[in-house]
Amino acid sequence: MIIGLPADALVMLIGPSGAGKSTFAARHFLPTEILSSDAMRAIVADDPHDQAATDAAFELLHAALTLRLARRRLTVVDATNVERWARQQPLAIARRLRRPAVAIVLDLPLAVCLAHNATRDTPRPVPAVRRQHRWLRESIGFLAGEGFAAVWTLTTEAAVDGAQIERAADAAPG
Ligand code: ATP
Ligand code: MG
Repeated sequence: MIIGLPADALVMLIGPSGAGKSTFAARHFLPTEILSSDAMRAIVADDPHDQAATDAAFELLHAALTLRLARRRLTVVDATNVERWARQQPLAIARRLRRPAVAIVLDLPLAVCLAHNATRDTPRPVPAVRRQHRWLRESIGFLAGEGFAAVWTLTTEAAVDGAQIERAADAAPG
């Protein structure tokens, strides 16, 4: 699958913990294009997994997203984004700045997410992965109506591994 992206897009990765969002992001995007909730937690709390730092982490993520999109820099939001409320603020920022929002959904089977998770140095709690997978499944039918210009859905590991990103030429300034 070739995923076409406008040069000034908000790219929202959506998928449960262990789906492979950060791996996908690192493969296809510059480190500076990726705003991850884990990295923001680390900035504010020195610990990427400190859940108590979540509110501050997202405040920082949304601020950075706003500043980047205002400059027409393509920006990837690397968080689970499986809950509607988590998607709403990035979408509102993109809408306000008139930038296109594109979703890339890693809609992999729960077993694959759990298997990936089990290989990690710091596996996330299994109930959290299960819950996020359920929330993603409940969200799937609604994504197109939430304001995304395009929703790209990858449903197998082969599809994730084979996906290519094709960027449009830089948007005109202004
Ligand atoms: P989180 O929401 O917790 O940050 P994530 O979606 O970013 O999760 P990753 O950190 O990218 O998930 O991947 C989780 C684990 O699965 C990592 O150990 C990674 O190496 C492995 N993994 C990710 N994608 C693949 C893949 N396509 N094939 C094999 N292993 C993968
Ligand atoms: Mg990640």
